[in-house]
Amino acid sequence: MATIPVAVLGATGAVGQRFIQLLEGHPLFQVVALTGSERSAGKKYHEVCRWVLDTPMPAAVANLTVLDADADLPAQLVFSALPSTVAGPIEQRLAAAGHIVCSNASNHRMEPDVPLIIPEVNPDHLALIPVQRRRRGWSGAIVTNPNCTSTPATMVLRPLLDTFGVRRMLLVSMQALSGAGYPGVPSYDVVDNVIPYIGGEEPKLEIEPQKMLGRLEGETIVPAGFTTSAHCNRVPVLEGHLVCLSIELERKADPAEIATVLSNFRGLPQELRLPTAPEQPIIVRHEPDRPQPRRDRDAGRGMATVVGRIRPCSLFDIKLIALSHNTIRGAAGASILNAELMHAQGWLA
Ligand code: NAP
Repeated sequence: MATIPVAVLGATGAVGQRFIQLLEGHPLFQVVALTGSERSAGKKYHEVCRWVLDTPMPAAVANLTVLDADADLPAQLVFSALPSTVAGPIEQRLAAAGHIVCSNASNHRMEPDVPLIIPEVNPDHLALIPVQRRRRGWSGAIVTNPNCTSTPATMVLRPLLDTFGVRRMLLVSMQALSGAGYPGVPSYDVVDNVIPYIGGEEPKLEIEPQKMLGRLEGETIVPAGFTTSAHCNRVPVLEGHLVCLSIELERKADPAEIATVLSNFRGLPQELRLPTAPEQPIIVRHEPDRPQPRRDRDAGRGMATVVGRIRPCSLFDIKLIALSHNTIRGAAGASILNAELMHAQGWLA
């Protein structure tokens, strides 16, 4: 039986709906409160949410009244799916009032005292929480998860960095429509098309992995030293972000060795058997035409990163393709896994 009440901010949007879906029947967390914009506040969730997921809207939330963004929330743990245009002050107010805010918004990710976490990659960075509380005088905290395209790249880089060292990386993304929220990119712009620009995205991919793969030294994260060049593209796929990576390693490795290291990678969520953790965080496919968004995005219940086409690179050392489900592993599932880790480590007490 779930015993920990949680609130979802921005519950009617693309990520908010994923939270509601993934939290249905969750063994620890139970949704007790939802927020939306002025458009939805005061109305029942089922009246204002244009539900776009394939499973039915959970009955337990359908009749909850959507609260406004300034409401007092009856839950210490808060999942934020707010747009970055409004998330900053709302999340800060909640953390000051004692809430633990697990956020998808980009506003606080790169602040030096805010953990930016993938639990398989850098669970030790949660040690920034007491630093954040002391510096800001908060009894709560803000803990963030990365941009949905940083996720597959960083997941792959963790074992590569640890085993071979990484010097440079070229990243080309093919990002799904749901990454732009709902209703997102107009169909007239994206059907029969690829849009070679996603505002603000490339700088995020060039700095977020550096922070997550950085070393915690005292109260500071020393960023990982490799450089990244990113190209981001929006493609007419509903869910699942693909990234093509060309990577220069410190120590040379052949594709078979890379495949073994990636397949064998496990992290703390697997050791702790956290409810949302995939058994295998990185699944390597050996077919010449995988991973594909439609066929591979749901691997590990949407929480696994699927890698394929590992081959030599004539510019750098190795190239490969990685895929993550953007609204699950890249957003709502990521926040929930962060909260499960925080629960297991006593941060929610
Ligand atoms: P979205 O579909 O546009 O949903 C936005 C949500 O925020 C809706 O619930 C909306 O409520 C609410 N909202 C809008 N304006 C508000 C305001 N002024 N005050 C309070 N609430 C307001 O966006 P999304 O794709 O779910 O993204 C949510 C956040 O997650 C963003 O920060 C995004 O960058 C991040 N993110 C998204 C993805 C992804 O794959 N989509 C991945 C990683 C991170 P109403 O419906 O009531 O207006």
